[in-house]
Amino acid sequence: MIYLKNREEIELMRESALMVSRTLAIVAREVRPGVTPLYLDKLAEEFIRDNGGVPAFKGYGNRNNPFPASLCISINEAVVHGIPTNTPLNDGDIISVDCGVKKNGFYGDHAYTFAVGEIKPEVQKLLDVTKECLYIGIEKMTSGNRVGDISYAIQTHAEKNGYGVVRELVGHGLGKNMHEDPEVPNFGHRGNGPKLKEGMVLAIEPMINMGTKNVKQLGDGWTIITADRKPSAHFEHDVAIIDGKPEILSSYAYIEEALASVVR
Ligand code: MG
Ligand code: MG
Repeated sequence: MIYLKNREEIELMRESALMVSRTLAIVAREVRPGVTPLYLDKLAEEFIRDNGGVPAFKGYGNRNNPFPASLCISINEAVVHGIPTNTPLNDGDIISVDCGVKKNGFYGDHAYTFAVGEIKPEVQKLLDVTKECLYIGIEKMTSGNRVGDISYAIQTHAEKNGYGVVRELVGHGLGKNMHEDPEVPNFGHRGNGPKLKEGMVLAIEPMINMGTKNVKQLGDGWTIITADRKPSAHFEHDVAIIDGKPEILSSYAYIEEALASVVR
């Protein structure tokens, strides 16, 4: 069942989404070689709680193996759902940082992939193209289009660049639940899937691999890695349809400002 949101609800969702954006900006200031993912996670959790939010990922999932942290930090060949560890980041790594917050009963859920120090040009291109895929997908989120129009646009741009599009994990509706209908795959056919309507809020999140589209899960029951161990990137925004057009509720402006202010 797809829950449509009214303007008031969308404004509350914007608040939750922007809290995630500001949390990711805190992380952006600290990403550098030698820093540990667990340290980034601690900063994020403190910021979220200090601002009246609840870290939505902590304790998420199966009772026997709940996710243990506030951030998913997925390094290099890790696609998503990486568990923060005490192993310091290395120069040349990429880390995808995904964060979820619940505030006023509504969830925000978005992600950014950061370069640690100097990365290879071909890895930078993977980041650039994955971010392009996100915005190209968002452009298709207009009333009257279908979910498949978003999916097709993302897949086409990724594959045109020779990249693999992950099949096992998809974007989703967002609201009073972190994962609502509809699913938003990053692959598919134009004109297929549920119709997009005023008041829909979707988390659009391309997960794009430098090599094969195939992935596997590590023994920790969470971390998804590429089958060929080549790098993977992940960018995610929360987007509402307002007046028939996509409006991005989250924002990378905070992150970009933070990255620009850091002397490296
Ligand atoms: Mg996410
Ligand atoms: Mg998501």
